[in-house]
Amino acid sequence: MSKTIEKIVKKGILQPGEVALVGAGPGDPELLTIKAVRFIEQAEVVIYDRLVSDDIMALLPDRCEKFYVGKKQAKHCVPQDGINQMLSDQALLGKRVLRLKGGDPFVFGRGGEEVEHLLNYGVNCHVAPGITAASACTTYAGIPLTHRGVAQGCTFITGHLQNDGQLNLPWQSLSSSSQTVVFYMGINSLPVIAKELIGHGRAENTPAALIRNGTRDNQEVYRGTLATLAQLVQQHNIKPPALIVIGDVVEQFSEQQVGKLGYFKASAVVAQQTAV
Ligand code: SAH
Repeated sequence: MSKTIEKIVKKGILQPGEVALVGAGPGDPELLTIKAVRFIEQAEVVIYDRLVSDDIMALLPDRCEKFYVGKKQAKHCVPQDGINQMLSDQALLGKRVLRLKGGDPFVFGRGGEEVEHLLNYGVNCHVAPGITAASACTTYAGIPLTHRGVAQGCTFITGHLQNDGQLNLPWQSLSSSSQTVVFYMGINSLPVIAKELIGHGRAENTPAALIRNGTRDNQEVYRGTLATLAQLVQQHNIKPPALIVIGDVVEQFSEQQVGKLGYFKASAVVAQQTAV
């Protein structure tokens, strides 16, 4: 570690029998927090999700035992109860347990349920926040979430369809033009999202983007409008993980400017696509 990082007080100490619930961010390992790295270095067991990138998994110590509990939409690899049980079982064996999750554990990550379970079992639990997808992916796509005079606020919301195929969201408040709305887990419901927002008064030509594999080497960005984005998703057969961003900020920087923002390999990697 660099001298600067060494100067940061070591607070991330994981004792045997404890769990560290750690946000790994959306993929680029450089977006890990220093606290996350400290916990990763100490892990004896890791229980991890599908959204934790390979680059981050490669940082785990060789001795670390790995359990994959990834979920696909509506198809849980290990049900949440099973994950909770695995966490407490491993901790009660006296292991230093790392629970590694994509983004931030408390943003659409069910981290709260895992913490509740561990506390009920008398297991000490550290929680390290991570950079949530909405923040990092938009940044890497050259989209500011708020911008003076353009978007006064932003809302992060789930687009995950309920079991009955419905999506009951506060459409009226999401339709105000002065805010950015970021949908997590929204690919399948994009046609409904667009229809409802337009139906509640958001302009059809509101800029909209879809960011897939954000912050990773294979990041893709598709730009369109509220009226055209669903068609783009269909044309390109886009699969999760992807975020949908709706609002005028999507057009704040031109394609050429985005290429010069230098977040990473910029235009060589970021596919800019516009609906026809
Ligand atoms: N706890 C995570 C979110 C988990 S929900 C966080 O804070 O980011 C899973 C959803 O997050 C995905 O369906 C997608 O909408 C979004 N997501 C996570 N990582 C992403 C990435 N690298 N690129 C695009 N979307 C991502």
